[in-house]
Amino acid sequence: MNPSTRAAPIFYQCNSCAGVYLPVQDDGTLYFHACPPQTANPRDENIVQDLVTLQVTIKAEGGGRTEVPGPPARAATALPPPRWRWTGGELVSECPTVGHHAKR
Ligand SMILES: [Zn+2]
Repeated sequence: MNPSTRAAPIFYQCNSCAGVYLPVQDDGTLYFHACPPQTANPRDENIVQDLVTLQVTIKAEGGGRTEVPGPPARAATALPPPRWRWTGGELVSECPTVGHHAKR
């Protein structure tokens, strides 16, 4: 998919455990949120199918979820994007954090 035509990512906040998550990951895989153990009224988005009605649903709605506008606060303090320098035969990371970015 062309990144320039991609819609802004939509984050959801779980109303049961307050976890913030991206339903579609950067690589296109889907994420099905499930609350951690001990959560009251837990939500579990893993897909199940009723064997009688064949209806496909998530396992448990829990307290539902709320769309949130941007990345969670945690992501705002995430590591900066990698910087690379082309040395004529090799890409060299200029990132000051040792071991921060793996070479692709
Ligand atoms: Zn949750």
